Amino acid sequence: MTKRELIFDGNEKQVFATDDPHKVIFRYKDTTLAYGGIKRAVFKGKGALNNRISALLLDELNRNGVQTHYVATLSDCEQLCRKIEIIPIEVIVRNRIAGSLAERLGIAEGLKPVKPVVDLRYNNDALGDPLINDGHALALGLVSRAELDEMYRIATRTDAILQDVFHRAGIELIDVKIEFGRASDTGDIIISDEISPDTSRLWDEATGEKLDKDRFRRDLSDVVASYRRVLERITEVLKKQ
Ligand code: C5P
Repeated sequence: MTKRELIFDGNEKQVFATDDPHKVIFRYKDTTLAYGGIKRAVFKGKGALNNRISALLLDELNRNGVQTHYVATLSDCEQLCRKIEIIPIEVIVRNRIAGSLAERLGIAEGLKPVKPVVDLRYNNDALGDPLINDGHALALGLVSRAELDEMYRIATRTDAILQDVFHRAGIELIDVKIEFGRASDTGDIIISDEISPDTSRLWDEATGEKLDKDRFRRDLSDVVASYRRVLERITEVLKKQ
């Protein structure tokens, strides 16, 4: 596999072309951003941790029949992924109400809804990733009805698989953001971005301690140490299988 030109240079990751037209290389950076980029920092080692956490979780999803873009880990910060056409919609599955939804509803974090709440956001920096509904997504031509249904199906299954993995690691999956794309070789809808403490909320089941990006957002310190604990715990659980 030969690494070719940089095709996307984001704040938190880069994507490179390869000599295979259906594969790309994802490179995780140490930079982290919050609140639409207003808050920014660099945490040495964060990229490598997210590379490993994401590889473990995406591989577990692949093994459970949920297609993701993850193919193989190439180095500390790089993984080989399937090439996709981006669908600019973020699907957020919430097992407890926290973060922006707790704020919007004016309630304390932690309420457990009868069934998970699913939000859609239009992935558009200039608009600040606004919340949208199915009608908006269809009106904008971002997806077909069948594709959106498939995204909901995959998101629900993903949430169930991840909740189980994290629970076995003594961690509660509070919420998770999932991004999708159309695989360039098959056209299938697949998960096409990282799943890590940067894109989910993870609370220690025993202590309630936050082990995710909220440590950075809320100046709680120990960001890298918390991510490392997540990696150690899920590694333990997944290698025992
Ligand atoms: O901010 P909010 O509470 O809506 O976030 C819900 C979940 O989505 C959190 O796990 C957060 O880390 C994740 N998220 C993300 N990227 C964004 C916004 C939220 O990964 N741009």
